[in-house]
Amino acid sequence: MTAVELESTSAPATALPERLPAPTGLSPSRISAFRDCGLAFRYSSIDKLPEPPSAPAALGTLVHHALELLFTRPAGQRSLDAALADLDVAIELASGTPDGEVLGLGGDGHDETREQAADLVARYFALEDPDEIRAIGLELRLEADIGGARIRGVIDRLDLAPDGTLVVTDYKTGRSPSQFSEQQRMLGVTVYSAMVEQVFGVRPSRIQLLYLKDPVAISTEPNDRQVRGLDIKVGALWQAIERACERADFRPKQSRLCDWCSFQAYCPAFDGDPAAAWAISAANPDAKRPE
Ligand code: SF4
Repeated sequence: MTAVELESTSAPATALPERLPAPTGLSPSRISAFRDCGLAFRYSSIDKLPEPPSAPAALGTLVHHALELLFTRPAGQRSLDAALADLDVAIELASGTPDGEVLGLGGDGHDETREQAADLVARYFALEDPDEIRAIGLELRLEADIGGARIRGVIDRLDLAPDGTLVVTDYKTGRSPSQFSEQQRMLGVTVYSAMVEQVFGVRPSRIQLLYLKDPVAISTEPNDRQVRGLDIKVGALWQAIERACERADFRPKQSRLCDWCSFQAYCPAFDGDPAAAWAISAANPDAKRPE
């Protein structure tokens, strides 16, 4: 479904209020979303416009689920065959859901999706031996206060390393990023590190991003400078969001991401009307807003 197909386009125009409700918190992905484009952030996190499921994101969810299931098996039983069996369970559970539909599970896209997901799962084994990992948390939901904002996030995996320290692992199913966006993504995982430190009272010794497609691992060792920098960056960003809400002023920021943006129909950069987006939100006041 494209932006023009969203049912919201037919809603009557409603004037934008003088101020918009601020979100009650943020997730690492919402932090990136605001940095990428303030207006798209507003449509997604404040107006809560419907967004069509994306096939790459759905494929990523499938692979994450297969790897999560793999780590519920005891060490010594985490072979590639076991991981592929877990992938089949994940595929079965996704069938009939919106993600399953966008991937064509049970239909035309089933075999191709299974092949792509199996390839990513197999590539994971080039990065580490899962039998050597002591995972103490899977899909771990954490909350912490960073830079004055309530941050909520889900950590793919938290490991206890042989030396007794904690390691945060995040799986990525896209290609590894350029150096610039690598720093952007590292901001996200540094948030995870800060959350672990606040919740468990111990700073992780390492944070690693496992890019399955390449496959390549990027890791960093969090330090005091990073933690201080994170507090300042998230604090500044949170203040910018609050200011934008107070003034109901979220600006579009055009980039390559516009090609995949679901909100073009409401974006002034594409001759869209932002007030039409607010009309959808006003007509659906109980919609749960992402954070
Ligand atoms: S189309 Fe581009 S500029 Fe407009 S809201 Fe989407 S990402 Fe932002």
